[in-house]
Parts: sequence; C-alpha cells; structure tokens
Amino acid sequence: MSDSEKINLMNLDQKAMEGLVQGLGAKPFHGRNLFKWIHRHGVIDFDAMTDISKSLREQLAQLTEIRAPEVVFDQPSLDGTHKWVMQLECGNRVETVFIPETGRGTLCVSSQVGCSLNCSFCSTAQQGFNRNLSVAEIIGQVWVAARRMRKPVTNVVLMGMGEPLANFDAVVSAMSIMQNDLAYMLSKYRVTISTSGIVPALRRLREVSNATLAVSLHAPDNELRDQLVPINRKYPLEQLIPACRDFIQGDKRRKVTWEYVMLDGVNDSDHQAKQLVKLLEGTPSKVNLIPFNPFPGTSYRTSSPERILAFRDRLMRAGIMTMTRKTRGEDIDAACGQLVGRVQDRSRRELPLSNLFAKG
Ligand code: SAH
Repeated sequence: MSDSEKINLMNLDQKAMEGLVQGLGAKPFHGRNLFKWIHRHGVIDFDAMTDISKSLREQLAQLTEIRAPEVVFDQPSLDGTHKWVMQLECGNRVETVFIPETGRGTLCVSSQVGCSLNCSFCSTAQQGFNRNLSVAEIIGQVWVAARRMRKPVTNVVLMGMGEPLANFDAVVSAMSIMQNDLAYMLSKYRVTISTSGIVPALRRLREVSNATLAVSLHAPDNELRDQLVPINRKYPLEQLIPACRDFIQGDKRRKVTWEYVMLDGVNDSDHQAKQLVKLLEGTPSKVNLIPFNPFPGTSYRTSSPERILAFRDRLMRAGIMTMTRKTRGEDIDAACGQLVGRVQDRSRRELPLSNLFAKG
C-alpha cells in the first residue's frame, strides 16, 4: 500500500480509533492504548507500543500511518513567543504560535488555510480562502508543539488562521482530542474557540461540544460591524448576542470573551464604549481589547495607548472586566491578524455559507 493510501491515525478521535482496531479484529482497549501512545506520549513508531499485540502492530504498520504537519520554520521570538510554519499538502502553509507565560503555555492554532470571511482589518483575509484543515492538521499543531516545547501546552485557543466554526466537524473532533484525558487533558475552560459569529454553527456547537467562547465583536452597532466583520450582514447583533448568551447559560463560571480590535478613529470613541456597555448588558462578559496589528497595505491605524486606556476605563467603570491584550511575538509577525501562512490559489474562493452547517 502506498503511503498516500494509508489511513492517517492523527485524523481519528478516540472512538474512531477504537472502531478501527475493532475492524481489524482487536479489542477496543487496544484502540485506547494506541490513542494514548500517539497523543499522550507522542510516539509514532508502532514497534515502541509494547502494550499492543504484535500482530495488531503489524497490521497497523501496513494499513496506517501517523502523520502530523511538517514544520518548515521554527522561529523563536525575543519575548519567548514561538512560531511554527507548517507545510501541508499541495504547497499550503499555516502558522501556529506558542505563547509562554508564567504558569501557563497557550497555543494559538489555525483551523483553515486562509479565510473566507473577509474582515477588513485582518491580514489572513487578504489571502483569500483555500481549504479547511483536516483533524490531523489541527490536532497535529498541538502534537507538534507538545513535542517541541519544554513547557507544557496548558491552553489552546483556536485563534490562528481561519474561522473555526466554518470547519465545524474537524474542529469539534480536534477539540475532543484536546480535552480527552488519554491525550492532552485540557478542561473545557482551557480550550477557547474564537469566532466571528456564524450563529447557526454556534448554536449547534453548544449541543455537541464544550469550550470557552470568544467572539470577534469589534463594533458596538450593526452599521459599523457590517463594514468590519461582513458576516454581520448575515447574522447581525440581535441574533449573535442572544446566541452567545445561550452558549454560556447554565454555567455560572462562564463569561463570553468579546474581542475588540482598537482601530484609531473607527471604533474607539467614548460614545462607542458607552454603546458597547449597553449592548453587553445582561450578558456575563469579559472584553479583550486588541491593539490593531498593522500589515502591509492596510489603511487602519492602531488607537493610541491613551485612547485604549480611556476606552477600557469606561467599560471597567460600568463593571465589565476588560483587559488589553499584550501584543506578543511582533518581531516574528506572530501577533493577532498577522498570521499569513501561504495560501495556494489566491482567488478568494467563496465558501457557500449554506454548506457550513448543512447537518445542523
Ligand atoms: N476567525 C476567528 C479567529 C480570528 S483571529 C475569529 O474571527 O474570531 C483572532 C482575533 O484576532 C480575532 O478577534 C480577529 O478579529 C483579531 N484580528 C484579526 N486581525 C487583526 C489585526 N490586524 N490586529 C489585531 N487583531 C486582529
């Protein structure tokens, strides 16, 4: 069997792996062991998996492979942030960023090659959309980081390239591996999915998975949000906000994290801070202000530090916990919205939104 015809075990969650070994005539617990070898121990050599029977190991070696994306650049930043460029099939590349902080290590993972949502201030959008990542390509980013860093990955944020809810099934499956006790053991509070707000997919997510929710809000009213985050024209604030509120309902520890990029003279006035307070009334919320990270060709500028402080102050005084996101990894272009990877076929292929949650 040629390598390209082999099943990549990196694509399988625990249940699927148990199913696979059962199909080969073995007991499901061998599937659990196999899953643990790959994700907990990072082992890809079947010979080393000593608690799996020899005959099963031989069958696995013949029919399957364990393949994570190949790292083509491994770039540490001056502030300790680490960026990997991963090579995928067909020449595409995506980026993964590791951000070490005291007591935790956060991995920022990509979910698509490029993005189809076309937010006006995001450099990924400029590259157009190529395709969804597979489960292996998403969880493979975690696998690679866990192998390469001495510090453990304690948190994963789906905030790299792409819109995770537009790659629903693969993202849900990869998140189940992140949260699996035989694998990366991350609690639902340590896996964050960041979305620009595909409302039906968000509602579906609540039924099948559990994670912390971050939403790219960026504007306090529909008129401005239509410009900045065009998916708002399809799912405006009066649909988005209740869907987010429902997402966290029933868990008192939870809040929605609202991401708000600070764009000079566009969305950063006192009046807009007041509008934002009003909009979030009744929703347990945290706001993350993100200083805009410029990229070549953009006409946006970041708000001044004084403006950001004043904006933050308004929200805090209204009782909303507000943080200003520190920009990390700027010297290696690893900050929010600076991840570019390499998207083959830049023809801004439109992804029909109706396909995104066809099973909903
Ligand atoms: N598609 C997902 C993940 C995007 S990246 C989403 O929309 O949430 C994570 C965050 O960085 C998002 O809030 C995104 O809007 C923001 N971002 C994008 N470009 C940026 C830029 N140039 N500067 C600062 N933040 C940016």
